[in-house]
Amino acid sequence: MSEFHRLGLGTYRNTDPDACRTAVETALETGYRHVDTAQMYDNETYVGEGIAAADVAREDVFLATKLDTDNLARDAVHESSAASLERLDTDYVDLLYVHWPIDSYDAAETLPALDTLHTEGAIRNVGLSNFTPELLDEAIETLEAPVFAHQVEMHPLLQQEALHERAVADDYWLVAYCPVARGQVADVPELVEIGEKHDATPYQVSLAWLLAKENVAAIPKATSKQHIVENYGALDVELSEADVAKIDRIEREERLVDFPAAPWN
Ligand code: NAP
Repeated sequence: MSEFHRLGLGTYRNTDPDACRTAVETALETGYRHVDTAQMYDNETYVGEGIAAADVAREDVFLATKLDTDNLARDAVHESSAASLERLDTDYVDLLYVHWPIDSYDAAETLPALDTLHTEGAIRNVGLSNFTPELLDEAIETLEAPVFAHQVEMHPLLQQEALHERAVADDYWLVAYCPVARGQVADVPELVEIGEKHDATPYQVSLAWLLAKENVAAIPKATSKQHIVENYGALDVELSEADVAKIDRIEREERLVDFPAAPWN
């Protein structure tokens, strides 16, 4: 099974075929081994093409996708995941998430279908995304397979302490989306100041802070080679305990992904 790499490439809004293909290929050739897509992103085909174009074997890539909110009834889980595999041009994905526990989500319908895919080998691991603590309880109780990852918005401006504690206690990965707060990290004084000390950018400091935490992974989206390479450089930034503590003390709750039907509202 492909190893899980804590720094992955996000692909949301990367719908231009050439740009998406090239970003995935560039990331894999830079050293990334984890790629995150979703049925909702309309780019699985280009992600698959980028993986095929890179000089990296499929089995060395940890590939994650997500079920759209319309595809969570039992039959739709099976049909739509088969269509995802076809678009991605692969026999299996390393991780299949429930993207949002809304619309057609019903734990008793959706999760047994994921268990079946897991037993059959079409998906190597089961993931959840955007779950509240109550919905996590229900899912963990319903699933036979272990939860491998919970993907949520997480960055220095939305630190998700409670969901992080839960991930550590239950021992699954907390995968941070919007890990550079869609560019907002560039203007956070604490990140700029710590970056100056380490000769690192605020983007790299934000990612290094996430990766310094137990059981946390991060999937920054980047399109240009410059951003892809810069973000990968976060793996070389070693924050001190004092740096981490200083970022922990930032008390801003700036949620970037929100809408009235979101599970927490
Ligand atoms: P993000 O990764 O925090 O930010 C992406 C934006 O930041 C892009 O505009 C990118 O520009 C820019 N950027 C990245 N690195 C940069 C750098 N080093 N310097 C300057 N700009 C930089 O936000 P996101 O894309 O929303 O989240 C990341 C991934 O998480 C998504 O792509 C998706 O895979 C996943 N996600 C999941 C959910 C969910 O509900 N599960 C929700 C949102 C996102 P360029 O593209 O121009 O390089």
